[in-house]
Amino acid sequence: MKKSFTTRSLHVPFPKKDAHRSLDMPIYESVAFEFDSSEDIAANFRGELPAHVYSRTSNPTVEYFEQKLKTLTGAHHVLALSSGMSAITNTILAICKSGDNIISGNHLFAHSYSLFDQTLRNYGLETRFTDTTKADEVEKLVDENTRAIYFETVTNPQLEIADILKLSNIAKKYKLLLISDSTITPPVVFNAKDFGVDIEVMSTTKHISGGATSFGGVIVDHGTYDWQLNPNLKPLVEKFGKDTFVGRLRKNYYRNTGGAMTAHTAHYQILGLDLLELRFERSYDNCMKLGKFLGNHPQVKGVTYPGMKNAVNYDLAKVQFDGKPGTIITFDLESEQACFAFMNRLQLIRRATNLNDNKSLIIHPWSTIYVEFSEADRLAMKIKPTAMRLSVGIESADDLIADIEQALNG
Ligand SMILES: *Cc1c(COP(=O)(O)O)cnc(C)c1O
Repeated sequence: MKKSFTTRSLHVPFPKKDAHRSLDMPIYESVAFEFDSSEDIAANFRGELPAHVYSRTSNPTVEYFEQKLKTLTGAHHVLALSSGMSAITNTILAICKSGDNIISGNHLFAHSYSLFDQTLRNYGLETRFTDTTKADEVEKLVDENTRAIYFETVTNPQLEIADILKLSNIAKKYKLLLISDSTITPPVVFNAKDFGVDIEVMSTTKHISGGATSFGGVIVDHGTYDWQLNPNLKPLVEKFGKDTFVGRLRKNYYRNTGGAMTAHTAHYQILGLDLLELRFERSYDNCMKLGKFLGNHPQVKGVTYPGMKNAVNYDLAKVQFDGKPGTIITFDLESEQACFAFMNRLQLIRRATNLNDNKSLIIHPWSTIYVEFSEADRLAMKIKPTAMRLSVGIESADDLIADIEQALNG
């Protein structure tokens, strides 16, 4: 029988036995690592003696975090970076050159959208945005310069879910890489490889960090893509084989752009990973209880949580994410003013923009995250003035319900 996520996470062996037989991975906050002889250091630089050299390229504590996530996901390789944005940037740069394009979901984390739409466009890299819940729309945008299809497993705050196998079929048909941003649905509930995802990126700042302890990102390579199919990576296949993408990152983009995770951060992320399943399950239970309470309250005009049986995308949530599609709920009151007044009356739930803190956090996306967009653009993105986003924490459901109830009645 396969052991549980938590059991497996806690007992991943160290890549190397610790000199003092430490039971927990020490924080190797060292910039550089020394060698016994000039022959050894020369051999290392020739690639013949693997060892840590300089912590911007690799570090023992960070390596252990990568090793844990690799074991838990069954991936071919995991690379840890300084933030989710760093993971996304490195992934796209490593597969594209100027003149190439990717096809992406149009409802993205705001900075991912801005990265694709502005930053990368300045370097001749085009993103074709479309609704990835409609696979035929995706297919229409493919041309000979398309390198990848990119989507978020659950969009935020719309909470839409694409049919990943359909996207995977298109990716396979046109020999494209399929990339998911799986931040909202961490590996406790989502086995990306089973649905044909080749590369996952995640902001580990969210679920994995242990509840807003530190910034981090990961690139998870499931080892499923034939790198000969990408003209930018093809010349490297002879040298790197199955490690072509990772090789390109480690020897070029990752190393040269300086987006490494620090050992201190890796320490937090290791602790967070060990408690991920417990925290996620608790938040999920809270989501279900809050969803039910909100759905029955006369002042609440609508509730969205795809884990609830009456949700339009419940079936996809069930198949793809074990019925636990993240821990974000959205709900509507009758007006923007009602939302503001409600939020001001909350005593426990905090007004803040992050996701998957251990504390429950609420925000009114219309007046904050999306305020730089015109009203028409916001409506087109399915952002509504009457909706709030609740990132459900690990407090008890009763305490959260009591807070919401007093704020609704107040
Ligand atoms: C937060 C987030 C990111 C960016 O991650 P950072 O760690 O803040 O850089 C990317 N994608 C999604 C879905 C996110 O929620």
